[in-house]
Amino acid sequence: MKDTSKHQGLRNQLANLLEQKGITDTNVLEAVRKVPRHLFLNSGFEDYAYQDKPFPIGAGQTISQPYTVAYQSQLLQVKKDDKVLEIGTGSGYQTAILHAMGAKVYSIERQLELFKATSLLLPKLGVRAKHLSFGDGYKGLPNFAPFDSIIVTAGAPIIPKPLMAQLKIGGRLIIPVGGENQVQIMTILIRKDETRFEKHEVGEFRFVPMLENKN
Ligand code: SAH
Repeated sequence: MKDTSKHQGLRNQLANLLEQKGITDTNVLEAVRKVPRHLFLNSGFEDYAYQDKPFPIGAGQTISQPYTVAYQSQLLQVKKDDKVLEIGTGSGYQTAILHAMGAKVYSIERQLELFKATSLLLPKLGVRAKHLSFGDGYKGLPNFAPFDSIIVTAGAPIIPKPLMAQLKIGGRLIIPVGGENQVQIMTILIRKDETRFEKHEVGEFRFVPMLENKN
């Protein structure tokens, strides 16, 4: 599959739609204009890649809806060279958006099939993630901590303590909290000091579940 001016036009339209839906961070909108989402989908979905919808990516998982990706990316308040940890690499689209926004991205995926496919795809598309890891996102990446921000892209029944511990003071954790088959509440935790976190809840979303110790 190739990237063409037709795709570029569709990306511009998608970015405009996200702006209408309330995304204001120009860094996020520029990244949506840049990253070829159709190359993150199976070729059968190419024609739909620039609709504001989630799609299956194999292993029972989905690439998140562009609005959700943009919304979470905006909540992260990414600054250039920020160290960002992503839980749930999936297709790699969110990874690519964060990379386009200037972040140094670390990402964890627990489905081997997706980890392998995405680890091959990202370099081909010029996306140089700092570190892609196969493992359990509940544990984070203690060897690479602390992070300026952490984004969880699967619905989490609880807020994992290790992720809180791996945030810098002043850092932000963006996590949809709620059980399997429920809506999740998008939650922002801002680390105030060693022990205190400020919590904000900013709307309902639906994600595939964040799984622990099972495949
Ligand atoms: N950011 C992805 C979203 C994929 S859906 C994208 O843009 O395509 C969520 C992903 O989280 C799935 O790939 C799923 O396998 C993964 N996941 C679920 N539980 C996980 C866990 N405990 N650790 C790491 N990844 C997990």
